[in-house]
Amino acid sequence: MNRLILIKYGELTTKKGNRKLFINTLYNNILEKLNGLDVIIHKDISRMYIEYDSSLEDIILKKLNQVFGIHAYSIAYKTETNLESINNTIKEVLEKYLENNQEYTFKVETKRSDKKFFMDSMECNHKFGGFILKNFSNLKVDVHNPDVLVHVEIRFDYSYIYINEYKGIGGYPVGTLGRGALMLSGGIDSPVAGYLAIKRGIKLDLVYFEAIPHTSIEARNKVIELAKKLAIFGGSMRLIVVPFTKLQENIYKYVDGNYPITIMRRMMYRIMEKLSLKFKDLAIINGESVGQVASQTLTSMNVINSVTHLPVIRPVACFDKLEIIDIAKKIDTYDISILPFEDCCTVFVPKHPVINPSIERCIEMEKSFDYESLINEIMNNLLIIKIDEHFEENKYSDVL
Ligand code: ATP
Ligand code: MG
Repeated sequence: MNRLILIKYGELTTKKGNRKLFINTLYNNILEKLNGLDVIIHKDISRMYIEYDSSLEDIILKKLNQVFGIHAYSIAYKTETNLESINNTIKEVLEKYLENNQEYTFKVETKRSDKKFFMDSMECNHKFGGFILKNFSNLKVDVHNPDVLVHVEIRFDYSYIYINEYKGIGGYPVGTLGRGALMLSGGIDSPVAGYLAIKRGIKLDLVYFEAIPHTSIEARNKVIELAKKLAIFGGSMRLIVVPFTKLQENIYKYVDGNYPITIMRRMMYRIMEKLSLKFKDLAIINGESVGQVASQTLTSMNVINSVTHLPVIRPVACFDKLEIIDIAKKIDTYDISILPFEDCCTVFVPKHPVINPSIERCIEMEKSFDYESLINEIMNNLLIIKIDEHFEENKYSDVL
């Protein structure tokens, strides 16, 4: 029997105008994900089919579970679209699937996209059901709650028979909703925010603000490890390392009281806007969560957000920390995030950061040093590392 993986797109099929873009993007993402494996992928308007060597099945299924835009998939058997071939394949599939002569109930569910096929779906159900009853004395029909659901998809030249259907991870194919810049720190929240943005089809650029020597190279490597985890779902991406030291030192020299964090985050947003223009990102994405720390009160968010016109997406804004941790564990970033290397925020935190900052005071304080030229200098000294899920440290030393 000709065994293959049949993929259903789900959510994206409802986006009629964009269907072609969605399917082509999903197709390319699956190709990228299965790169190096000996497979043939076909696509049509509502299904994708992967032909493969059976020894690769487990690894392919594991990888497909990391591709957004897959609604469901099945191990299906392909046959020619004629009654005899379909009947024979149903028989073979059931013989393979049913382990012994135990009694089962079943139901046939036919989908007929080839409207020229001589029977409609109902007639097919009856015809194939009758054939099964004749050939399997241990099977009985139960249309409400069957033990075994026999799917028959009649699609032009070929038809597909399968029993089990598995859920994919859903979401939209990465890239179909444009590109965004994720502020990626070494914390727990931002990788989760990135994962959720990827799930919505956003292709990410990653931005890490670094303050060497106040932060260590281990802190950067931790961010690289997190980026690799995100690349499992988001494909290869740029990690932009922002040399933030001088600007940050100026902030702590010229900004007094409880304002350094607020001003620092305004500077980060200003740089994010410049980076977004440079790399054609349509939104800033970060791991801010309402109420989590002083800079994440609504007043703080207003004051910080007011330096940019770009939309700022905060996927975990309304999540509890425990909910964020659950996702971090699921995507395997949690153990990396809790490693003890400090990033640039934690190093300079004042004892009592302001909770209700005033925008006028920020503007006043920002006049005390020439942050614009410092930002321009930063923009000329970016380090860009291309990361994919197989990224290796030794490749990275070359970039250094
Ligand atoms: P935690 O998970 O412990 O809350 P965090 O990284 O979320 O750590 P916050 O101080 O809450 O730290 O920062 C809020 C958001 O700002 C982060 O989720 C991240 O998106 C962004 N951010 C903070 N520090 C950096 C940094 N050094 N580089 C890039 N983005 C940063
Ligand atoms: Mg946080």
